Amino acid sequence: MSKLFPTSTAGSLPKPSWLAEPEKLWSPWKLEGEELLNAKKDALLLSLKEQEAAGIDIISDGEQTRQHFVTTFIEHLSGVDFEKRQTVRIRNRYDASVPTVYDAVARTKPVFVEDAKFLRKHTKQAIKWALPGPMTMIDTLYDAHYKSREKLAWEFAKILNEEAKELEAAGVDIIQFDEPAFNVFFDEVNDWGIAALERAIEGLKCETAVHICYGYGIKANTDWKKTLGSEWRQYEESFPKLQQSKIDIISLECHNSHVPIDLIELIRGKKVMVGAIDVANHTVETPEEVANTLRKALKFVDADKLYPCTNCGMAPLPRDVARGKLHALSAGAEIIRKELA
Ligand SMILES: [Zn+2]
Repeated sequence: MSKLFPTSTAGSLPKPSWLAEPEKLWSPWKLEGEELLNAKKDALLLSLKEQEAAGIDIISDGEQTRQHFVTTFIEHLSGVDFEKRQTVRIRNRYDASVPTVYDAVARTKPVFVEDAKFLRKHTKQAIKWALPGPMTMIDTLYDAHYKSREKLAWEFAKILNEEAKELEAAGVDIIQFDEPAFNVFFDEVNDWGIAALERAIEGLKCETAVHICYGYGIKANTDWKKTLGSEWRQYEESFPKLQQSKIDIISLECHNSHVPIDLIELIRGKKVMVGAIDVANHTVETPEEVANTLRKALKFVDADKLYPCTNCGMAPLPRDVARGKLHALSAGAEIIRKELA
């Protein structure tokens, strides 16, 4: 990016109420068939326009065509039975009924490639596409086939690589992998998690990012955060190895979180998407608050590598709140741009 402090979001944005029930994760679609397909495209366009109107520099799809950031991708694969469900513990945090892996997993058709082409056609700005990361994918499934988290993650990494290559060909500038599981399973992250992520980006020429966060502002996550104490040092576990990895950009949570900001020093040299917008409350930040978070981060990130961002996705927020937060993000980044000019 030639512009200093280019803004973006972690990925998801609220959907219009005519498409899905608002302020809800896994919200069911309100339409079906051809009508649903067209409505998803309309929502994608709307999301694009709202980001452009708010002055966001790197545009995402707002995840308007997916019900959930992990589940929707897996639904497109073979080898997973969504009827046969088992209860497992997600990220050691809450129980959920999840689908079963019963056979070798495979991507029989592209998942988001048509959506990416559609978004590409409608904007000249840089676009970023989020995919679930291999470790986060395995954590939301019951595996009755491979019986090995590492093996299944490796298979998913190969599948993600196929999708990523087609997204790159469709004109996506940055491909991001969402790995909230990196904040939980530290031994696995270092043993094979980062290696699996590098398998997923193998051969890509576009930029690549990994998003590691403390999750959406849903109750299971906010309850978990209360158990983490006054200092959240989870990033300390994965950052040293990520600094050595081939990933270009690390997207992380900062504003209103208990992450000691100096941990960013551990990834010096990488581009950093600094979370300057809290997604776990409905209070819209002031531009000055955003600027403050960015100023603090600037002590540990070179200016040309700092990308102002949101802490996580904003799908569960009311639309007007999310819109306000997008505007605050741009205005805060502009304050810092002027200061450095
Ligand atoms: Zn997140």
